[in-house]
Amino acid sequence: MEKLLKNSNSPENTVKIGEDLAIILIEKRKNLFLSGDLGAGKTTLLKGIGKTLGINENMIISPSFQLVRRHLGANGIELIHIDLYRLKNPEEVLGIGWWDLLEDPGITAVEWFDRAIDILPDNEVYVKISMVSEREREIKIFFSKEDVFAD
Ligand code: ADP
Ligand code: MG
Repeated sequence: MEKLLKNSNSPENTVKIGEDLAIILIEKRKNLFLSGDLGAGKTTLLKGIGKTLGINENMIISPSFQLVRRHLGANGIELIHIDLYRLKNPEEVLGIGWWDLLEDPGITAVEWFDRAIDILPDNEVYVKISMVSEREREIKIFFSKEDVFAD
């Protein structure tokens, strides 16, 4: 499977795509890596992931000062939300305990994976969101690093 293509025409639609994607992440025990410009909808999609895990949508926000936020879902699975937007240097990623966070039994979701290209693990789930118009988004889902880079 090379990639899944989804089109969203509203934030609610993107949340729903996240809800469905969460089922794959739980079943396959995968982490999630997201890219897309500011306002593309990365955090919005994570609200959907949270919804499936039983985490209040309002709790899932782009961490402005914290690089990492953890939320325990109602079903016992933890969502570890990392946002690399404000990252100053690549060493800082390793400094947050990057590899441990990726091995955590919870689901780790990373916004702005393009800031950690050199230390991006393989065989996880990757999402690229492009802004088509004010409300339309193209959401591409990949299952290997190779496919992300080939895109
Ligand atoms: P990011 O985390 O990528 O910076 P956010 O999810 O925080 O983006 O913000 C996305 C913004 O775009 C929100 O204000 C949301 O209401 C708006 N938006 C409009 N259409 C969509 C859509 N189809 N999917 C997701 N967000 C959308
Ligand atoms: Mg965000």
